[in-house]
Amino acid sequence: MSSLDAGLADEATIARYEPVIGLEVHVQLKTKTKIFSHSSHAFGNAPNTQTDPVVLGLPGALPVLNREAVSLAVRASLAINCQVNRYSQFARKNYFYPDLPKGYQISQYDHPLAEHGWLDIQAGELAKRIGITRLHMEEDAGKTIHDGFPDSHRYSYVDLNRAGAPLCEIVSEPDLRSADEAVAYLSELKLLMQFARASDCDMEKGQLRCDANVSVRLRGSDKFGTRCEIKNLNSFRFVKQAIQYEIARQAALLEAGGTVVQETRLFNTSTGTTAGMRGKEDSHDYRYFPEPDLPPLIVEDEWLDAIRDEIPELPPAMRKRFVEAYGLSEYDAKVLTLTAATAAYFEAAAKAAGNPKIASNWVQGELMGALNAAGTAIEDSPVGAAELGELVALVNEGTLSGKLGKEVFAKMFESGKTAPEIIEAEGLRQISDTGELDKIISEVLARSERQVQQYRGGKTGVIGYFVGQVMKATRGQANPKLVNQMLRAALDG
Ligand code: ADP
Ligand code: MG
Repeated sequence: MSSLDAGLADEATIARYEPVIGLEVHVQLKTKTKIFSHSSHAFGNAPNTQTDPVVLGLPGALPVLNREAVSLAVRASLAINCQVNRYSQFARKNYFYPDLPKGYQISQYDHPLAEHGWLDIQAGELAKRIGITRLHMEEDAGKTIHDGFPDSHRYSYVDLNRAGAPLCEIVSEPDLRSADEAVAYLSELKLLMQFARASDCDMEKGQLRCDANVSVRLRGSDKFGTRCEIKNLNSFRFVKQAIQYEIARQAALLEAGGTVVQETRLFNTSTGTTAGMRGKEDSHDYRYFPEPDLPPLIVEDEWLDAIRDEIPELPPAMRKRFVEAYGLSEYDAKVLTLTAATAAYFEAAAKAAGNPKIASNWVQGELMGALNAAGTAIEDSPVGAAELGELVALVNEGTLSGKLGKEVFAKMFESGKTAPEIIEAEGLRQISDTGELDKIISEVLARSERQVQQYRGGKTGVIGYFVGQVMKATRGQANPKLVNQMLRAALDG
């Protein structure tokens, strides 16, 4: 039975099969120049303006390994707990396609840069360690463009700006068991690469791309099924959709008595389906051999140690520290470590506020709300971390009510002024002076005889009415907690 016949399995059928997934992730290293030559690999420039003799594969041009690319690949390796091999070697992977003028891609094969790593994921309630087989370096290919031109029905176009961009390919063990686990793995990997400053992983610019290997087996079986490899998924949503589709397709096929054919498949982003592209190539199809134009790559201990020292604190350690040192919830710790800039902002705000938990609420609530609404990155926040911390402290010590605090924050965000400047200019200080409040409370009670009687008759809920009247009389500046206490004392006494 061919792979097209059986359609998609229903949920009950899918539930009887266990998915097995391994990801091959390509991460673009953030160097200025290409891996073996001097041209830039910046995104978005006019086609074919970033080429050179090496990229074009001109006769006599020789590759020279970019030291910075190695350094970033080592950082990436350390961030995912890999052992870095002192000796690794580049290899030619031969294939013919217009995006690769040389006729071969320089990659690594039997001596990769790094091996035996892992990262921890959290998928729902489940915490799990995912093995990483290897990390190897390679060059990116160019881009073939099949549509968007008036003559696209006859021709494809080639843009080599990206050809030769430095990549590391990170191959996981087949340890993932659902589409959600695959997405959790990918987002943690992305975070680690960003924090280690190996890559920006901007998926819209193709800086992180993923091939998903998917097979299914009957639950309880200890033998892996035959896998398909879905190529070039460039968003988390597509990774999830493609894997889910593939699981349902393979389950239906096996259920109908068919077999899965090992092949390379393409995901169609408009239909959410996968379709066979070519039979899976074996490694011998590529006629790998050691790259004769490059010497072996030796990473000396000293260099390795120096790179290790450059790696800042990474999200797993940071989350743990935020929970232990600041008493934050796991959830808050996760949100505040989504980018290095967010984490740094939070820590500075917490220090200025003198209260990490309340600072965390303000960063996640008011600040992120305002930044999202304005489409501004936290790096460009008009309210600095120390200034937000100062505002939080003013609210915390009762100089401003929570409500006034939010108003002041909005004005800070709009004007870039500090909280004290705004409070001073607008006379917004919270009234916590009991003498002043006593006077206002007496006036309010004097003109609310009916409500006073109601309260004393047992309808204590009318307290809200009195508080409202006092707040109105003070244009919202009275300390509400104090007003409440004083009202009760006056009414009960
Ligand atoms: P290749 O080099 O041919 O792509 P690899 O053995 O390097 O093959 O494996 C590639 C990826 O496929 C790895 O991420 C691995 O975990 C995954 N993988 C291997 N076997 C299976 C399987 N039966 N089901 C799902 N994924 C698998
Ligand atoms: Mg592969």
